Amino acid sequence: MSIFADLGLSNPVLKAVSKAGYEEPTEIQARAIPLILEGRDVIGASQTGTGKTAAFALPVISQMIPSTKPQCLILEPVRELAAQVEEEIRKFSYYRPLNVVLLHGGVGYQAQNDGLNSKPDFIIATPGRLLDHLSRGTLSLESVRFLILDEVDRMLDMGFLPDVRKIVDQCTRDRQTLFFSATMPPAIQTLANWALKEPAEVEIGSRQSPAETVAHAFYPVAMDQRDELLLALVEHTEFKSLMIFTRTKKEADTLFSLLKMRSNADVTVLHSDIKQSDRTKALTGFRSGEFDIIIATDLAARGLDISGVTHVINYRVPENAEDYVHRIGRTGRARQEGDAFTILSGDELEFAKAVERFIDKKIPRKKLENFDYIYTALLDDSPPKPVRVRRGGGGKRKRR
Ligand code: AMP
Repeated sequence: MSIFADLGLSNPVLKAVSKAGYEEPTEIQARAIPLILEGRDVIGASQTGTGKTAAFALPVISQMIPSTKPQCLILEPVRELAAQVEEEIRKFSYYRPLNVVLLHGGVGYQAQNDGLNSKPDFIIATPGRLLDHLSRGTLSLESVRFLILDEVDRMLDMGFLPDVRKIVDQCTRDRQTLFFSATMPPAIQTLANWALKEPAEVEIGSRQSPAETVAHAFYPVAMDQRDELLLALVEHTEFKSLMIFTRTKKEADTLFSLLKMRSNADVTVLHSDIKQSDRTKALTGFRSGEFDIIIATDLAARGLDISGVTHVINYRVPENAEDYVHRIGRTGRARQEGDAFTILSGDELEFAKAVERFIDKKIPRKKLENFDYIYTALLDDSPPKPVRVRRGGGGKRKRR
């Protein structure tokens, strides 16, 4: 077991780490931090929630020399992730104040221009808005010494490859590049070969397994009963904070109306058609406990750090098996226990099998006690005796 003090971090950073309450480095931190401090380019593959942000932020902040030009650029696929990383950078530079500017779409330019004029050390950005600033001439990347490409597989899924290439091209070759991706398909390997110099690779755990602290199960049900089962799961589960994932924005909106009408919980909704200020309100309110439930598309599946999520429900089995791991990784983060339920109906059997192949494990089928099931052949695969869902009864009562 290593300790932070042995990793070579600067004193102000060590103080900030201890202020954050971190007692010992996670595996990716213990392995990546010394390499980054040596000046190596690094490819990191790590499950969500393993402390990846501090793994790159701490050694970079440790090496920062006060300057009037941007020294570090961090690219993130989605706005909320960029905002979250901004907070982490502020937290870890507490004893060594550094200027940070956050650049993402969905908001005006004025505050961002002001931020850029205040001579930021860090730029944290999503690709589209960063390119806008570059083409407007409000920013140059020539002085960037540290380039961090985070959640690269997701950026590529979202079609950002050409943007990422353009951005990397505008940074000087004389830089240190850190590259984080949960998966390494050939397109990503090619990008890494092009953007990095003799990188060290740090892979933590299997790229395919759900966090070990999450108990997860399929809940088979007839198609017509998915909404009723969802309501019953919400009602009978003693959650503190619950994330419900849907496949589409429309589905998220429909469930939002349904739960507002039929459940006792305080609910909010998050997807990319919602305007940025409401997205921020939804996420902040969920984090602070104002909302007990957030209904979200995969926008919220990866990387977002929402502590204390006690339960996850997948309203549908995700079509992309890897998303399953990311979604249920919302709970069981940083070694906490969590439960994840996935509603399964007949049209989704192929997706369910794909998930099981992906994680190389059979996922248990469970039934909710006292739920009035309509017969479906799917239920024949389930255990004959219904199982109790988490200490039964209760659920959340509306606080009005
Ligand atoms: P991340 O994977 O960077 O999103 O981090 C997941 C969560 O783990 C965040 O809430 C971090 O604040 C927390 N975390 C990161 N590193 C540590 C650590 N060494 N000890 C305790 N918590 C940590």
